[in-house]
This record gives sequence, C-alpha cells and structure tokens, in this order.
Amino acid sequence: MIQLLNEIKGAATIGIGGHIRPDGDCVGACMALYLYLKKCMPEADVRVYLERPADIFDTIAGTEEIRTQADAQAPDVFFALDCESSRLGAAKPLFEQAGKKINIDHHISNMGCGTVNYIDAQASSTSEMIYRLLEKERMDAEIAKALYIGMIHDTGVFQYSNTSPETMRIAADLMEYGFDFSGLIARTFYEKTYVQHQIMGRALLESFLFLHGRCIVSVVDRKLMEFYNAAPQDLDGIVSQLRDTRGVDCAIFMYETDIMQYKVSMRSTDRVNVAEIASYFGGGGHKKAAGCTMSGTFHDVVNNLSLHIEKQLQEEQ
Ligand code: AMP
Ligand code: MN
Ligand code: MN
Repeated sequence: MIQLLNEIKGAATIGIGGHIRPDGDCVGACMALYLYLKKCMPEADVRVYLERPADIFDTIAGTEEIRTQADAQAPDVFFALDCESSRLGAAKPLFEQAGKKINIDHHISNMGCGTVNYIDAQASSTSEMIYRLLEKERMDAEIAKALYIGMIHDTGVFQYSNTSPETMRIAADLMEYGFDFSGLIARTFYEKTYVQHQIMGRALLESFLFLHGRCIVSVVDRKLMEFYNAAPQDLDGIVSQLRDTRGVDCAIFMYETDIMQYKVSMRSTDRVNVAEIASYFGGGGHKKAAGCTMSGTFHDVVNNLSLHIEKQLQEEQ
C-alpha cells in the first residue's frame, strides 16, 4: 500500500483522472479522492478530469467541477484511477507529462503504468482501495457517499464474487456517515429510464444462445441507438441481465461505435476467464467482467470470441 499524503507532499498542482466512459466506481473513486485532497491540501490546485458522467452521478458532491478537456500545463502529480493510461482519454497527456504519475487500480490486466503503482486485483473496486488510503479522521459524509456509490456499482450491490468481508466492513464504516444508502442504490443502480428499459427489452428479445446454450450474445446497432436517441451509458446493465440466463457461462453484449466497429462487454462465471479474452483483443478487465473494442461484422466478432470461449470451456472439462 502507498502512503498517500507522503507521496504528494509539497505538490502545488494535482490532477486526477479515470477511464473513458466512466462507470460508478471510476466516478466515485475520482470524486472521493478529489474531495479529500481539496480538504487535506487547501493550498494545492487540485483538478479532476473525466468524460461527463451519467446524470445519476450528479448526486456526488463536486461533479460540476469536473473538467472534460485537458489543461495546457501538466500537474506536479497525476493520479490515474480505475484504469491504465491508455484509457485516460483527454487527460492522457497530463498523466504522461506529470512530474509524478500515480496509478491506483484493481484490474487484473493492469501491470501498473505509473512511477508509483498501487494495483490490487483482489479489491472489489478502486473506491475500496481509495478508502484504505484515506485518514479516517479527515473523511466526511460526501467522501463516504462517493466511495459507497463506487463500491455498489462494481460489486453489483455486494452481489458479485469480488465482494469480500473487507468490502462489507468498509461499506459498514461508510454507512456510519448517515447518507441515504437505500435511495442511492435505488436511484444510481437499479432505476432505469423508460428508454433504457425499452432498449434492454430489445436486446434481450434479439439475443441468441450458442455453444450449446453456454453463451449468449446480443447487439445494439447505431440505427437502434439513434431511434431511441440513446447514449452508451443507456446500455449499462444489459450484459449483466444476459449473464443471469440459466445455464449461461459467458454473456456478450456489444454496441456499434462506428462502421464495423463494436464496443464489446463480457461477463462470465468461474468457467470462463473473460479478462484473458478481452486482453487478447487489446482490451482488459477482470476474470468475470471485461471489455474490448473489436472490428468486423457482428458475426466476425462473435466467431472470433466464440473460438476463445469454446477453448476455455473445453479445457475446463
Ligand atoms: P464493461 O464491459 O465496459 O462494463 O467493462 C467491464 C470491465 O472491464 C470494467 O472493469 C472495465 O473497466 C474493463 N474494461 C472494459 N473495456 C476495457 C478495455 N478496453 N481495456 C481495459 N479494461 C476494460
Ligand atoms: Mn471502471
Ligand atoms: Mn472498477
């Protein structure tokens, strides 16, 4: 583990960034660290860089201060959270040119891209790792809330196997701050807009099983996204729903990002390691949740993935 405040002692400018298409853990971890550093280092200029998060995350304090474009000057220290530098988007040059680069992440595919790395593939979330680094007497309810949101999103509300006794102990500590945890779970995790439900319905309806019912796949093309005026964020949760199909060991969901280009999300059980497959195709993630971008027709993509999944399922028997 790193000594957070020691690592950044004397820094006048600090940047924080997370991955493109930021999810709850990414937003929660970045905002918690941002709020904490602003509080502990009032003399420093602390800035947070992210693509605009989904509206549901507006409940986190300080999100209106997020910068979506990089500034000209690189900071003394830059934190890359919940990803490696290749996924930082607009903030990538700031990280690369920073005096000190700190990488904090829980992705098994991340080898560490900073001058200081704190990588723990056992951690449920980057938010859980950030919690470990904070001095508890300097925490407050807003920081606790941001971390809690991060943890519920990456654990599927403490359901996925990345949830550990430590995760639950940290969640319990965070609950002591007295925010409305039940409302947060309902509004940021389960609630969907009508349009989100409609698209999920379409994706489920048009999904199909392959590899003898052990895999399921579905796709949303650009025409459908345009018809519903949907953004990528509106597709969250579809792949998890597909994985919940009885008998399925690997679920694939993809949406078209460009002509013959797809953003692929995979979810699996113990029997398939999707991090391995996503890494092979230039992406990454965790054993049971990973993603990558792939080119070709929908059928090319399915065939390419299918070969790898089939091989793993055969080896497993
Ligand atoms: P997603 O399917 O996009 O929800 O991603 C599942 C997990 O894999 C998340 O932890 C992502 O951060 C990670 N992931 C998704 N795409 C990539 C990628 N291209 N490179 C590395 N990790 C990824
Ligand atoms: Mn993430
Ligand atoms: Mn994460």
